[in-house]
Amino acid sequence: MTTNPTAAKAQSELALPLSTEKSDWLKSTIRDIPDFPKPGIIFKDITTLLKDPVAFKYAIDVICEHIRPMNVEYIVGIEARGFILGSVVAYNLNKGFIPIRKPNKLPHKVEKVSYDLEYGTDTVEIHMDAVAKGQRVALVDDLLATGGTAAAAYKLLEKLGAEVATIGFITELAFLDGRKKMPKDVDVFSLISY
Ligand code: AMP
Repeated sequence: MTTNPTAAKAQSELALPLSTEKSDWLKSTIRDIPDFPKPGIIFKDITTLLKDPVAFKYAIDVICEHIRPMNVEYIVGIEARGFILGSVVAYNLNKGFIPIRKPNKLPHKVEKVSYDLEYGTDTVEIHMDAVAKGQRVALVDDLLATGGTAAAAYKLLEKLGAEVATIGFITELAFLDGRKKMPKDVDVFSLISY
C-alpha cells in the first residue's frame, strides 16, 4: 500500500489487466506483417515496440511488477524474443536469466522436449543443470499463439523439477486458445490480447 497519490497512480498504471487506453496504445506500437512467415499468418512484429523507448520501458515495467512479488530465483526466456524481454526483466528484478533454446545451440548437456506444429515437430532445449529441483522461476516469451512452445518450455522446467510461478507474454492471440495448453495451476498473464 502507498499513501503517495503519484506513486499509487503509477502503480495502478502498471497493474494487470491494463486499461483499454494503455492496451490500445501498446497494441499501436506493434506492427502487423501479413503473410509472414507463411501465407495466412499475421505476424505480430514487436521490433517496433522494442524501438519505442516509452513502450519498451512500460511493457518491461508491467511484467516486472507482476513478477516481483512472486519470489522467483530466475527468469526463463524462450528463444529468441523471449531473450530480449526476459534478460531485461531479470536485470531489473536482480534475478538470474536462463535461456530455453532451439535444438543444438546450448553447449552443455541438455534436457529436451519436442512438440507438434501444424506441419511437423519442433524441439526446445535447456541446460540440465540450469535449475535445481524446487527452485522458483518465471517463464516469459513475446507471444502466446497455439501454446505449443510455452507448454513445451513448461514441460522442460517441470523435468528439471523447477516450480514455475508464472508464464507471461506481451501478446496473446486469444482466438487460438493457447491458454488451454497452459498448466491449470500456474498463473498465466499477457499485456495485450487479440
Ligand atoms: P505457439 O507455440 O503457437 O504459441 O507460438 C508461439 C511462438 O511462436 C512464440 O515464440 C512467438 O514468438 C511465435 N509466434 C507464433 N505466432 C506468431 C505471430 N502471429 N506473430 C509473432 N510471433 C508468433
